[in-house]
Amino acid sequence: MSLQNKTAVVTGGGTGIGLGIARAMAGAGASVMLNGFGDAAEIERIRAGIASEFKVKAFYSPADMTKPAEIAAMIKTAESELGSVDILVNNAGIQHVAPIEEFPIDKWDAVLAINLMSAFHTIRTAVPGMKACKWGRIINTASAHSLVASPFKAAYVTAKHGLIGLSKTVALELATFGVTCNCISPGYVWTPLVEKQIPDQMKTRGMTEGQVKRDVLLAAQPTKQFVTVEQVASLALYLASDAAANITGANISIDGGWTAQ
Ligand code: NAD
Repeated sequence: MSLQNKTAVVTGGGTGIGLGIARAMAGAGASVMLNGFGDAAEIERIRAGIASEFKVKAFYSPADMTKPAEIAAMIKTAESELGSVDILVNNAGIQHVAPIEEFPIDKWDAVLAINLMSAFHTIRTAVPGMKACKWGRIINTASAHSLVASPFKAAYVTAKHGLIGLSKTVALELATFGVTCNCISPGYVWTPLVEKQIPDQMKTRGMTEGQVKRDVLLAAQPTKQFVTVEQVASLALYLASDAAANITGANISIDGGWTAQ
């Protein structure tokens, strides 16, 4: 599949799932704008690596997804540097775990801002350009937690459920403009973040690596396999393709059967 002459903005695109999606888009020929926090030298290494490996334009925006003005400026910069924003991937996200009565207000605000409200701000800014091109793909990284809850994750579960509502609404508004809007809902994905939790869990629980993976991390995932970043990226790439022109307002699970239960 070719995304030659297309462009993609991926929030939280410098690590984990976002980086996998950005690499998949670039691999199909799209120019990309990465966004997210991290070590400046490492981000530059990733940006330059994508540009040289895939022979595409690659930019980086340090926009903070809690700041509406910075988000809008990122989309405007992408439009001026890349020519348009054809594919918008709302992927930046954080988690905070606490009982509801102790949930820190600043953490609630941050999770809602980054995981949900930033998507409103990117979408509202990118849509006029997509409508003008009569082509666009909005792909939101939701979660199995857009469909089911887990205790102590009030903000995350609320934000991910909200993202589905936003996506359905946007899908309906843009249905006749060649613009689709969908969510991808992964279960547990094998990312560096997940990998780093394992030694601590082994120590705390007195378990082997295999036990932590199977009985703790993958307790809710019937396949007992992690979803891979590449599997999520392949789905995003498909949603960006012309073959997916009639998939809109959907929330596609990629969760090893978690939400089938
Ligand atoms: P990750 O921590 O590698 O990625 C999150 C990205 O968001 C990072 O690049 C980070 O810099 C960026 N970010 C955080 N706060 C930001 C801010 N204020 N402004 C700009 N960028 C910010 O983790 P990941 O697992 O790759 O998560 C990506 C998305 O996938 C998230 O939305 C997450 O909720 C979702 N998800 C992950 C899993 C999983 O198992 N890893 C499962 C389901 C859904």
